[in-house]
Amino acid sequence: MKKQDDRHHKELITFATVENGYIYWIWKREHNNISYSENWERLLGYRENEISNSPEEWIKHVADEDLKHIHEGISSLLLEDEFSLSYKVKHSQGSHIDILTRIKVISRDEQGKPLCILGTHEDITEVTKIKKELATNQENFELVYAKLENCAFYDSLTGLPNRINIETKLNMIISDAISNSTKGAVLFIDLDNFKNLNDTLGHSFGDEVITKVGEVIKHICHGDVSSARVGGDEFVVVIPKFTHITEVIDFTKKILKSLEEIRTINNNDINLSTSIGISIFPEQGESSTHLLKYADIAMHKVKESGKNNFKFYTDEMTKEIENKMEIQKHLIKAIEKNELVLHYQPLIDANTESVDSVEALIRWYHPTKGMISPLVFIPIAEEFGIIRDLGTWVLNTACMQNKEWSDKGFAPIKVSINVSPLQLEQGDFVVVVKNALSKSGLDPKYLQLEITENVSMKFIDENIKILEELRTLGVNIAMDDFGTGYSSLNYLMKLPIDSLKIDKSFIDNINESSNKELIMDTIIKLAHNLNLEVIAEGVETSDQLNILKKMSCNKIQGYFYSKPLPKNDLEEFLNKKIVNL
Ligand code: C2E
Ligand code: CA
Ligand code: CA
Repeated sequence: MKKQDDRHHKELITFATVENGYIYWIWKREHNNISYSENWERLLGYRENEISNSPEEWIKHVADEDLKHIHEGISSLLLEDEFSLSYKVKHSQGSHIDILTRIKVISRDEQGKPLCILGTHEDITEVTKIKKELATNQENFELVYAKLENCAFYDSLTGLPNRINIETKLNMIISDAISNSTKGAVLFIDLDNFKNLNDTLGHSFGDEVITKVGEVIKHICHGDVSSARVGGDEFVVVIPKFTHITEVIDFTKKILKSLEEIRTINNNDINLSTSIGISIFPEQGESSTHLLKYADIAMHKVKESGKNNFKFYTDEMTKEIENKMEIQKHLIKAIEKNELVLHYQPLIDANTESVDSVEALIRWYHPTKGMISPLVFIPIAEEFGIIRDLGTWVLNTACMQNKEWSDKGFAPIKVSINVSPLQLEQGDFVVVVKNALSKSGLDPKYLQLEITENVSMKFIDENIKILEELRTLGVNIAMDDFGTGYSSLNYLMKLPIDSLKIDKSFIDNINESSNKELIMDTIIKLAHNLNLEVIAEGVETSDQLNILKKMSCNKIQGYFYSKPLPKNDLEEFLNKKIVNL
């Protein structure tokens, strides 16, 4: 993994969430794949993941008359570091969209061929149309100019001011607040689960929702309170002056409530909820860029803690982000310096007491910070786009290790690997697994992949297909942490899986709670009826073990038998087990 590329990848993600209206993209020669920030498929009239991210796919959508122009552009990549191209792309419904693509070569190899390119796509259809009108309609210059201005400063869907407009206005409002020693607030409003709604009910319905939300916000914001639409489902409200913070709170609550009261749109029942982040000026910042960013950070905090609410920005929020970035930076180095290792925790067959498999669990010993838990760095790796490389490393290392054990003469066991939802979504996950198997020479039946309930729900049809392909290879699939997500029997029956891992929280105090015992017994019976094996996680005592054995639980994992062990210790454990038998 190239350190520099990842830094740019992170920059891209940060950009993409800060600057809206542009589609950011990055291409790396390593993968020959273009990652887009968001909405690229939507712009072309496709659903998420409907078209691939290859450069060939991009060119496929370019209008025929502009192909030559694009190929010329591509050849100038060898000579120029920075340039732009304007051209037409074909919308899925047949119309054409004018696009302006900016391109910046970030790194090159010794021959000068690009290794990493960053860029943006921008929809300039409206502007191009008006420019053309301007060229042919000189007399009506003022009318056309007014249209151009409208298009540059107002959002065409809701008629509300756009980002540039509100930023300019906010800067003026802040200067007033500073000179009058008054205070104001910026509200960053984001609809919850809008993407879902868009994907299930269609984009034109999504547009109707946005229009309606815009109307409601406009209606609430009268007098000197301004509002704007700054991105897909993002709105901003500026309260220029308040005396008591309760005024801001009441106003925010009013927005939450009014949006919740939108119950139907076009005869479709909807259930809208919203997350709002708030920053205060001038005490938290004196520029629109900072205040919008802070309100945005606070909004994301609301999302993290369950959505449908509001939060005020605090300095700790930025510290937390800085801390995450710091960990992210160290993590990239740790991967390069091989500071990460896998430990292996045995899973014991409840009948035979022999080792059935081992779960690979990642460990990071930081030279100064000491041991960092995967519960801390895995979410960061997911957030910063490192999880795919990390996950591939885990897969390769664990497969290789398991093959080595079988070559050394240990009785064959499975190795079980945690798979992040983002890995499944990466498109070529099956290929990554196949590669790990062929590189290591491990028989697929000795590999198990652990997925979580949440992953399986999100793109249910796509995931079923991937899981089926993996099972066809001979790989086992286990549902991890069962009972902690949004489990539904319906999904459970649909999913092609081999076993259920019941979360530790069900096993804790099982001996003291008849309720827990009953739930556990029911889950095990149900799983057996569905032909699934049951694995109990986090078993710590012999009491728990005996209860689980009585319930015919198939496999046991937990400190009672062993903690996760470094590879050498695990070998010792395997040897001891053989002696004990
Ligand atoms: P998990 O998949 O649920 O893994 C089980 C966790 O429970 C492990 O924590 C394990 O050490 C711990 N555990 C096992 N038996 C007991 C017990 O008897 N008592 C108690 N108190 N704990 C027990 P660990 O290693 O800290 O891993 C935490 C989580 O990090 C894992 O939860 C998994 O979600 C994630 N993780 C670990 N390695 C990887 C990896 O390679 N890739 C991905 N994507 N996630 C990983
Ligand atoms: Ca697991
Ligand atoms: Ca688990």
